[in-house]
Amino acid sequence: MSQKTRTIKTIRIDVDKCNGCRACELICSAFHAVPRYSSNNPERARIRVLYDPLRDIYVPVYAGAYAAAECAGRDRYTIDGKEYAECAFCRASCSSRDIFKEPDSGLPLKCDMCEADPPLAEPMCVQWCLAEALTYEERQEEGAAEPALGEIEIGLEALAARHGWQKLVDTVARLAQKDGTPMDAAKP
Ligand code: SF4
Ligand code: SF4
Repeated sequence: MSQKTRTIKTIRIDVDKCNGCRACELICSAFHAVPRYSSNNPERARIRVLYDPLRDIYVPVYAGAYAAAECAGRDRYTIDGKEYAECAFCRASCSSRDIFKEPDSGLPLKCDMCEADPPLAEPMCVQWCLAEALTYEERQEEGAAEPALGEIEIGLEALAARHGWQKLVDTVARLAQKDGTPMDAAKP
């Protein structure tokens, strides 16, 4: 695989500064609404803020990769003397819990760092975090050029895992026919 310089985007989370305002959840869901900013629903956010009522601690967690199957292991964290539930900090959209899934379709949600054209100076959740609990950094790294999966690919993978590829292909063909779009219209 060829090597090339790629931009690594990082959002640093300072849990001590997070006050639980959930502005990050709201703006993320609004930015990704279709059309953009037409709605806001934290259940559609690609960041969720966990709350520990006993210690009054808020922990922002970003949606990571889609997991087609539940993993066999479970992580349990103890932080500052408080034990957190299994899977609490896991970033995966997975079948074992409801977090990081589009509430209507059940399709996985993944943080895309607010990819936009033209690009944003900073992701929206960082811009809206007035407590400065979230800060954005970029760095250049040499590495293998791996194609990033887009939102459509991730959604299709999830649907295929649930219904099988053949059913998915048949359904797309049927819908395209109904719409009057020839199946080869999408070919370059
Ligand atoms: S916007 Fe910032 S302070 Fe508010 S919940 Fe999100 S991370 Fe915490
Ligand atoms: S970087 Fe963008 S997509 Fe990711 S959680 Fe923040 S607002 Fe949502």
